[in-house]
Amino acid sequence: MKTQDYIDREDKFGAHNYHPLPVVLEKGKGAYVWDVEGKRYFDFLSAYSAVNQGHCHPFIVKALKEQAETLTLTSRAFYNSALGEFEEYITRYFGYDKVLPMNTGAEADETAIKLCRKWAYKVKGIPDNQAKIIVCEGNFHGRTISIISMSTDPVARNEYGPYTPGFVIIPYNNLEALEKELKDPYIAGFLVEPVQGEAGVNVPDEGYLEKAYDLCKRNNVLFMADEVQTGIARTGKLLACDHENVRPDILILGKALSGGVLPVSTVLADDRIMLTIQPGEHGSTFGGNPVAAKVAIAALEVIRKEKLADNAEKLGQIFRTEFRNIESDLIEIVRGKGLLNAVVIKPTNGKTAWDVCVAMKENGLIAKPTHDDIIRFAPPLIITEQELREALNIIKKTFSQFE
Ligand code: PLP
Repeated sequence: MKTQDYIDREDKFGAHNYHPLPVVLEKGKGAYVWDVEGKRYFDFLSAYSAVNQGHCHPFIVKALKEQAETLTLTSRAFYNSALGEFEEYITRYFGYDKVLPMNTGAEADETAIKLCRKWAYKVKGIPDNQAKIIVCEGNFHGRTISIISMSTDPVARNEYGPYTPGFVIIPYNNLEALEKELKDPYIAGFLVEPVQGEAGVNVPDEGYLEKAYDLCKRNNVLFMADEVQTGIARTGKLLACDHENVRPDILILGKALSGGVLPVSTVLADDRIMLTIQPGEHGSTFGGNPVAAKVAIAALEVIRKEKLADNAEKLGQIFRTEFRNIESDLIEIVRGKGLLNAVVIKPTNGKTAWDVCVAMKENGLIAKPTHDDIIRFAPPLIITEQELREALNIIKKTFSQFE
């Protein structure tokens, strides 16, 4: 079978809820992936930052294999010998009293919302069914009904109503709007991405997170950070909130928590919040399974041992500097933090971000447009400086082909 045969088969038998770049991948190692015809590419998406540790990292795959041959799933009806080890490991790693394990990022966000509401009724004393959560325009927290209820993206939201109530939407990176809404005594939480990934790598002003956190504290409102995409070394620190020394009341993680090996997500919080949920009030058959537990420990171990946050910080600086030196009418702006970067494309001579991505693919680097005119560049964090410079040469060559 050739590339087109694979694409045709997916097209025929799969739902059309994605529009992939026309490349069919069958192998990955480190910062590279290979297509079914054996061509090698730099992966500059990293499965939306799930593969921060690089494709098929041997240490993580070893943990996966060992546990897969021993015990895969018990459900939470019983204890399993791996979960406690993971719970102790991750709570110490991020400095929280407790963790609640789930699977996907969306589930972790849903969990955070539920936890925040429980806390609102049991601790803050908001009257039943009145709790509200503030979210930001341009947010992306996943695809469930409640989550798209707070989305401002018509593509994600339209024709999925009726929507879940209880969300107040304010502009991102706007402290006055936050301060104003926080005056409402029924506000329970503020849910925010420290950098908006899907919206096109929107980096807020310096000090925004710190000040937003302070405002929340002053108003007895929980600060909830969705670090599903920004967390785990991607932006040059372990957490994007670490850039401003903010410790979220509720920390939401996913994606790179497994190094892209299987879906693992978590919510971390202290006892005063986490213990508001009682047995039976929330859960997941697969959440906290032994394979996920062992894989996540290995994935976090790799981040620390290989100093991936430092690498992301250093190479991110080089990436932005070099990219900003590229002269092209197509480039409007380059922005980002660590190795989470984006370029806004100014459509020129009928050429769009999609055309640039297709041309980069031909030249050996894959990335994907978000919102038509933005290309995100997020390679695995194990990429070396030499590899990054090779990738930059591919990007430079591609833009020159459009001149
Ligand atoms: N939150 C953020 C910030 C994300 O970027 C994403 C996915 O891109 C999600 C949540 C949803 O994660 P998942 O696709 O694993 O449900």
